[in-house]
Amino acid sequence: MIQIIPIFSLYVHVPFCAAKCGYCAFYSIPLQNSSALAESYLAALRREAKILRAAWGGKIPVRTIYIGGGTPTVLSPLLWRALIKTITDFFDLSNLEEATVEANPCSLSEPHLALWRGSFVTRVSIGVQSLDDDELRWLGRLHNAKTALRSIEKTMSYGFAVSADLIFALPRQTLRAWRDTCAQILSSGVEHVSAYQLTIEPDTPLGGLSGDERGGAPDGYSFYRFAQWYMNRKGLAQYEISSFAKPGLECAHNLAYWRQENVLALGPSAWGYINRSADGFRYRNAKTLEEYITLTELGIPIVDAEILSGQKRDEESAILALRTKWGVDFKNFEKKFEKKFEKEDGFAARLENVLKNIPSHLVRFESDHAGNIERARLTPSGMRVGNAIWSEIVGE
Ligand code: SF4
Repeated sequence: MIQIIPIFSLYVHVPFCAAKCGYCAFYSIPLQNSSALAESYLAALRREAKILRAAWGGKIPVRTIYIGGGTPTVLSPLLWRALIKTITDFFDLSNLEEATVEANPCSLSEPHLALWRGSFVTRVSIGVQSLDDDELRWLGRLHNAKTALRSIEKTMSYGFAVSADLIFALPRQTLRAWRDTCAQILSSGVEHVSAYQLTIEPDTPLGGLSGDERGGAPDGYSFYRFAQWYMNRKGLAQYEISSFAKPGLECAHNLAYWRQENVLALGPSAWGYINRSADGFRYRNAKTLEEYITLTELGIPIVDAEILSGQKRDEESAILALRTKWGVDFKNFEKKFEKKFEKEDGFAARLENVLKNIPSHLVRFESDHAGNIERARLTPSGMRVGNAIWSEIVGE
């Protein structure tokens, strides 16, 4: 009998930033040259990895790695050595397909790039956000357009696949300024772009200001529509609501989330997800670094968990799949959950009905010869109104 060994994706959260951006609600704290704090974090990370390896009974096989934050590049190359060693000591990388590191244009250095080149890292995601200096200042970013473009060029010269994060619909941002940012970023040669509408979380400095004090916000719809049209036209196909890539250069790690695959979490406030035969198990590690360090001295640092059973897992799986250009593959759905995706199944019937009732320019179906639906996917217009479609699927 062939034994199928599950393979994991690994997310590592680095909880430090050089300074806090006014709109950001991710967990991160200023590092301020405190290598003692970073060393405590790395020691805790090693403890957590060791616990995971013991629970698995050997090095854990991983297919993709994503080291995000926070700002991983605020760790010095020396500290990075320890981080890389923890991963190689406790995880089996023999089937690794992709390893991404998030980088900030200000703290990314040549020693970082040289070190990564000699390690398992294959891809660098740079937090560019905008190539307009006024917009970058408003966002509270420490870099300017020139620094961002230089960091992309340098990273490419080391042979990494490069992705850039962009934010649109900033206060007073014009479509023309957004077009200039898109044009410049594509001229830089990046293979992948993630474009997000600005979201100001309530518990942030900018979240405390009124809309007028922030300078209002343009309607994001036309900015998003422009990005969809422009990126595709320039060879970066949209493969997910916020993601555009040259063919074959989609982010394998993010695809693991959208395909609801197993993702292990390492580090404070990191989320993980494990498929079990009857349900899904989502968990989150201790939220703060202090709590994380303490809990890893005692055992597993998980503080929140949710079991996604039956319908909830199905709904989530369908929504995640519909975020991507591949949409819901009804046959895979059956295989994945080891159940027939039949009409009499409550969720399957409802999903089919919901999708059929959506205007046809928003969703496309593929059927077999007998007329059974095999796949449903959102069109570019459908991706623009994804949130409304998700609400229909969960019956809100
Ligand atoms: S650099 Fe990124 S993670 Fe850090 S505060 Fe700014 S947006 Fe948040």
